[in-house]
Amino acid sequence: MGVGDVVRVRFRPGVVGEAARVVHQAVVLPTGACFSLCEAVIGESEAEFLDGVGGMPCMVCVRVMALRSSAGGRELDAPGAAS
Ligand SMILES: [Zn+2]
Repeated sequence: MGVGDVVRVRFRPGVVGEAARVVHQAVVLPTGACFSLCEAVIGESEAEFLDGVGGMPCMVCVRVMALRSSAGGRELDAPGAAS
């Protein structure tokens, strides 16, 4: 995992309530913290990284991604897009 990588991340158990443990789309900062599309900052020691599909997605992050893709951005593939 490198700086600038897009990761799927949520808070570790116990850092926040279970209802707040949604999965964000975030980039890794030089400090090791994650900065999500919904502008949450998750410290390196508070972060739980997820591989593949799992967890309840952060609706704000999903919305930001959808708006970016509808604006013509191609940096992230939409789920379910024809291949
Ligand atoms: Zn989010």
